[in-house]
Amino acid sequence: ACGYTLLRDPRHNKGLAFSEKERDAHYLRGLLPPATMNQELQEKKLMHMLRQYKVPLQRYMAMMDLQERNERLFYKLLIDNVEELLPVVYTPTVGEACQKYGSIFRHSQGLYISLKDKGKTLEVLKNWPERNIQVIVVTDGERILGLGDLGCQGMGIPVGKLSLYTALGGLRPSACLPITIDVGTNNKDLLKDEFYIGLRQNRATGQEYAELLEEFMSAVKQNYGEKVLIQFEDFANHNAFELLAKYRSSHLVFNDDIQGTASVVLAGLISALKSVGGKLADQKFLFLGAGEAGTGIAELIALQISKQTKTSIEETRKKIWLVDSKGLIVASRKESLQHFKKPWAHDHEPTKTLLDAVKDIKPTVLIGSSGVGKTFTKQVVEAMASFNEKPIILALSNPTSQSECTAEEAYTWSEGRAIFASGSPFDPVKYNGVTYVPGQANNAYVFPGFGLGLIISGAIRVKDDMLLVASEALAAQVTAENFEKGLIYPPFSNIRKISAQIAAKVAAKAYELGLATHLPQPKDLVRYAESCMYSPVYRSYL
Ligand code: NAP
Ligand code: MN
Repeated sequence: ACGYTLLRDPRHNKGLAFSEKERDAHYLRGLLPPATMNQELQEKKLMHMLRQYKVPLQRYMAMMDLQERNERLFYKLLIDNVEELLPVVYTPTVGEACQKYGSIFRHSQGLYISLKDKGKTLEVLKNWPERNIQVIVVTDGERILGLGDLGCQGMGIPVGKLSLYTALGGLRPSACLPITIDVGTNNKDLLKDEFYIGLRQNRATGQEYAELLEEFMSAVKQNYGEKVLIQFEDFANHNAFELLAKYRSSHLVFNDDIQGTASVVLAGLISALKSVGGKLADQKFLFLGAGEAGTGIAELIALQISKQTKTSIEETRKKIWLVDSKGLIVASRKESLQHFKKPWAHDHEPTKTLLDAVKDIKPTVLIGSSGVGKTFTKQVVEAMASFNEKPIILALSNPTSQSECTAEEAYTWSEGRAIFASGSPFDPVKYNGVTYVPGQANNAYVFPGFGLGLIISGAIRVKDDMLLVASEALAAQVTAENFEKGLIYPPFSNIRKISAQIAAKVAAKAYELGLATHLPQPKDLVRYAESCMYSPVYRSYL
């Protein structure tokens, strides 16, 4: 009933877009200047303002302020300008924002659960104003993007990811909950930083860590039930693999760094093979980097081949080789390997360098997922091009400075024959009069639609088969026209349509597997998914 409160409620505030009648009905008269403006004009004004900021962090802060002031306008802007604003609210700018989170901190977003709250996590959850939560993105801040341990300041990541859930996947903002679990940080600079917002202690590990996470996972299930999606984000790999293995049979959990990446990359490979020819099962894969991304992708490829050829996964894994910081992963190293690497330890002589491994294995697909830049050297790419008509080369490491090679290098060194995509965006490359457009294997292609599919079906568990159908759905969105330019991913401008397609396939799989609780199953799942998607267009309050 109080107009002043309405203007300060970001979920309902429309600023100058309140009409004369609304101003009368909601006690707003005089609280706003006389002019009225529609949402489109507000959008135009904001884009104009954002483009004047030359420093990316300023754009980020302006976007966060908008989110806190007028939520619908924030999402309208993000949806209508997705290609321009994705790098602002997400990687790369969000990385810098996390590094400086303490200094730029203005209003608290999301929920913080720290070691101090042990025994009280349920109370903390109950302090959040929304009851109907559908998706939680949670981090412990230990491996933020490629930037390492940012402790409590990792909060920018769950906040950013959830804004993509809404903008790209159409989940309601009020159903999204960003959480940071603060168990300390080993980042010495942050511990010394007077503006640091987290606990000033080294990371808790072992039992102390596991107990807080267990308490959190139980409290979530108790408070929100079985159908809330918990997405683990930017955990260090030892915890990431363990948490996923521990909770996948009792909770609806998803790890975007492992599973989301795998689904996006498999989609790229499926679509690349449509242009190169040949089956997935005929390929030989070599990875540089055997962590969350590398082994996650490798496992999903092996699963897909095993389904397609009806061979055991133990057998199909043999087509896939990985190199870590100690060289090729081979059987003689098995004893000392972390458990997630063991399935990839095949019989072979130890090989020290990537180039030797490439020459020995002769892969048709080379994937970089080590986080180390400039590792696909001229010799490596030339070797790939010497035994492949069209070598498939994916340089996934982020940010741009860590890319295994640039798009230009991949095309030039392979004489224009490489099928190339990367984790960070590259501009189109002109080589010998032909323009090549490199694709970006962006995780944002899959997770929003994937989550939407789980939510609309009321799924209670995530299964790998759902990741496979998401890959196929994404690959199916790549057109002949895209292929001609060298693209193995569809343009981002269609992302909400793509998300609905992915959601429908994921939901269908959930029903097929008997994991869906939203009954009866809607007839047309694509239309149903679209109808569930949040629209940021202003509503009338009359
Ligand atoms: P991670 O779990 O820490 O794994 C990194 C792996 O790289 C480890 O196996 C590590 O070896 C290996 N490595 C490190 N330095 C190496 C070197 N000099 N030579 C060979 N191997 C080396 O990290 P992650 O989560 O998998 O992420 C890796 C990279 O992929 C990051 O840059 C990330 O941004 C990128 N990524 C991209 C996408 C995408 O494009 N959509 C998605 C996810 C991740 P040890 O095991 O021996 O330490
Ligand atoms: Mn991540």
